[in-house]
Amino acid sequence: MIPVFAFAGKRVAVFGLGGSGFSTAQALVAGGADVRVWDDNEHAREKARAAGLRIDNFAGADWSWFETLVLSPGVPLTHPAPHWSVVKAREAGVEVVGDIELFCRERRRLAPDAPFVAITGTNGKSTTTALTAHLFRALGFDVEVGGNIGTPILALAPPAPGRVHVVECSSYQIDLAPTLDPTVGVLLNVTPDHLDRHGTMENYAAIKERLVAGAEHAVVGVDDAFCAAVARRLEESGRDVVEISAAGRLEGRGVSYEDGALYRLDEHGRGLIADLSGIGSLRGAHNGQNAAAAVAALRAVGLEGAGVARALASFAGLAHRMEEVGRAGKALLVNDSKATNADAAEKALLSFRDIYWILGGRPKAGGIAPLRPLFPRVAKGYLIGEAADAFAQEIGDAFPVVRCETLEKAVPAAVADAQNSAASEPVVLLSPACASFDQFPDFEKRGDRFREIALSLIAGSKR
Ligand code: ADP
Repeated sequence: MIPVFAFAGKRVAVFGLGGSGFSTAQALVAGGADVRVWDDNEHAREKARAAGLRIDNFAGADWSWFETLVLSPGVPLTHPAPHWSVVKAREAGVEVVGDIELFCRERRRLAPDAPFVAITGTNGKSTTTALTAHLFRALGFDVEVGGNIGTPILALAPPAPGRVHVVECSSYQIDLAPTLDPTVGVLLNVTPDHLDRHGTMENYAAIKERLVAGAEHAVVGVDDAFCAAVARRLEESGRDVVEISAAGRLEGRGVSYEDGALYRLDEHGRGLIADLSGIGSLRGAHNGQNAAAAVAALRAVGLEGAGVARALASFAGLAHRMEEVGRAGKALLVNDSKATNADAAEKALLSFRDIYWILGGRPKAGGIAPLRPLFPRVAKGYLIGEAADAFAQEIGDAFPVVRCETLEKAVPAAVADAQNSAASEPVVLLSPACASFDQFPDFEKRGDRFREIALSLIAGSKR
């Protein structure tokens, strides 16, 4: 835990007691703040009470008593409308911040020179965060990783000289961190997403820009128009910017992904950093962008060389994101349960050929029509969940499909077909292009079930 001494003696309201709100309240108490908490959910309040936190129904509270409101990232700050607690806080002149802001203040107090890498983007945040942490760790650093991925930031070990914090930040968290000042800020990409919470695309992009604008070194993807403009603005204002590109768009100093390998471009010219082609956890151009960003983050603090290239090869990857479960005979089994829409499934379809594709679940608007150009990569489809009829219709006769309803039926059928096919390296791919809620509580449970079935088939194929 990071006791937040920066708020010692201050009166703080913590609204929202999910994982991050709960540890924020505890970290503030440990630092000597006078803390009151509230959550609309009674179960959450009960848990807080049991942990010794002081509950206060903020709806009837005298807001002038508080100095700061710490908001959970799940609570709307601006769109579609500010939450009532935000309105009341602002009316009373109370500042509204989030847990990342508290971390930044505490870091400035404790160890302002301790490396802090903050990572954001519409896609690839978690992969890049995990990979960056892995690279630092492989080079022998003491690394703390968390934020929007895994452990809430204030539940990590405190900033200390020589200790690196690698932190994934969502737009909501950036919005609540007015003095965000990482050593290295990484902005991967910006595409339309979560506009419901941020209003316009411009507002969404401007929030993401703040993460790199406040950074000592900025790593910025230049493959989309929004981020390319951000990189230009920072360069024009004389800031240290390392560009990354997986689409041949590098203009300034940077790291690019081309033909399966990472290259650096700097005052010494262009040079190979590492070949990614044999690394299963970093397949595809999207992971090329993520790897370029992670390598660029280390370069920004002076770390490069053979150690980094070697460490890339030992990255295990994240569960449910094109996770290689193993091989049943010649068939490779891949769990991409995180692909809950067509856009994400496209990344997986682009990464393989001779695909025995398990798809379906609760369909999203737009269906799978955008994937049509990739249908020639698919040998056969196995439909699960509610989307079966709609998807069967969209696929037409592009490839044969079978209706399996469940993973229990789909996985063995796909593995058997893949093993009996003429392809030398067939792939059984769960990349559903759908939400999981018709059959599972979340995409993790769906992926876990796929892995379980896959592992038993793999074990059976070895007998
Ligand atoms: P996030 O944390 O931003 O949601 P993840 O690293 O968890 O991102 O990846 C989620 C999915 O997004 C992956 O399964 C893949 O389909 C897609 N993806 C990953 N990296 C990128 C990228 N750099 N650009 C576009 N899509 C990506």
